[in-house]
Amino acid sequence: MYQAPRGTQDILPADQPYWRTILQTVERLAQTYGYARIDTPIFEDTSLFERGVGGGTDIVDKEMYSFEDKGGTPITLRPEFTAGVMRAYIEHGMRTWPQPVKLYSTGPIFRYERPQAGRFRQHHQFNVEAIGAQDPALDLEIMSVAWQLYTELGFGGLSFQLNSTGCPQCRPAYLHALKAYYQPHESAVCDDCRRRLQRNPLRVLDCKKESCQAIIAGSPHIIDYLCAECAEHFSRLRHYLDLLGRPYELNHRLVRGLDYYTKTVFEVWASGIGAQNALCGGGRYDGLVEELGGPPTPGVGFASGLERIVLLMKAQDIEPESLGPAPFLLAYQGAEAKDSAVRLVNELRAGGMGAILTFGDRSMKAQLRQANRSGVRFVLIIGPDELAEAQITVRDMAGGAQQRIARADFFAWAKERVL
Ligand SMILES: [Zn+2]
Ligand SMILES: [Zn+2]
Repeated sequence: MYQAPRGTQDILPADQPYWRTILQTVERLAQTYGYARIDTPIFEDTSLFERGVGGGTDIVDKEMYSFEDKGGTPITLRPEFTAGVMRAYIEHGMRTWPQPVKLYSTGPIFRYERPQAGRFRQHHQFNVEAIGAQDPALDLEIMSVAWQLYTELGFGGLSFQLNSTGCPQCRPAYLHALKAYYQPHESAVCDDCRRRLQRNPLRVLDCKKESCQAIIAGSPHIIDYLCAECAEHFSRLRHYLDLLGRPYELNHRLVRGLDYYTKTVFEVWASGIGAQNALCGGGRYDGLVEELGGPPTPGVGFASGLERIVLLMKAQDIEPESLGPAPFLLAYQGAEAKDSAVRLVNELRAGGMGAILTFGDRSMKAQLRQANRSGVRFVLIIGPDELAEAQITVRDMAGGAQQRIARADFFAWAKERVL
């Protein structure tokens, strides 16, 4: 017996209303904020992600689905969206478009992770990027897209976690202070952190190991080391957040590990969703386009995992909008009645009305049982009597009331009730 590969799942019809609700909200908000859709390939050159996500990250070191295609070219299933979108920005000369270029994507991404609740090896993301402006009001806009998305989906108790990770000018002084602080603790921290201190020291701040927590709590704060430009950007962003009354908390542990991630880093948290509070994360990457071979170009964005949103909607008892079943089911008896039912169901559907035809020439009882289970509003019954009198029997499933309607009048009657 085959099963879906480990770390993947089938999204069955019962779950589709969650997905439809999320994706429709995403599309409506993208329109509201002026973000255009872009779809990039699901796979790219492996080196794009090695540079655009970065060696020293778990993604590149441990989690990518990389292989050589039949022509010997090293390719990787995308583990995130940003690198591909930046590649497209450079390739299509988008720097000549009005700036910032504001783009969004949704689709699957692939990471070889240990499967656990809400975490899949193929999972889906909503991703938003604004490229080509360094204005802190643009950081606010990106954060507002996330805020409004979760608000409209029905999440309560939202707040931002906020930090700045500085820039290549001011970060070295902080890293120096951080390493100096960690030096006397090096034997006490976990193996991962000892490695991070060599390769990617900022990442020690988001270590989840119990043994490292007390050491992290006493570490110096990067916002005390910002250069004038980074400090000004951070204080303007906080000003704009205050202006809109958005609650935020400074979180000195919130970091991205690589040089091209600059300034703003944020997460949206919702209350009451357990230990893992974050709904999404994002921030600035002013050095990324240059890292990929383009001209110096600032950028800011965020990504949100859709499986996780579905999981949290269920945990918070948020009901998605459902399209509901078709309003009509046609039950018939005999070959001549079936002809009439086939014509009628076609007529209803062509007129934009949902209608279900039963199959297999089953007994009237079996067809009515199907109608009961399917949740339709009306069963339309055509048997020998109805045929003889050119009528249709209509049963209202809500009260069980039955009436006969002339076949010639039925389309108008149906339109009045369901359109
Ligand atoms: Zn700086
Ligand atoms: Zn650690």
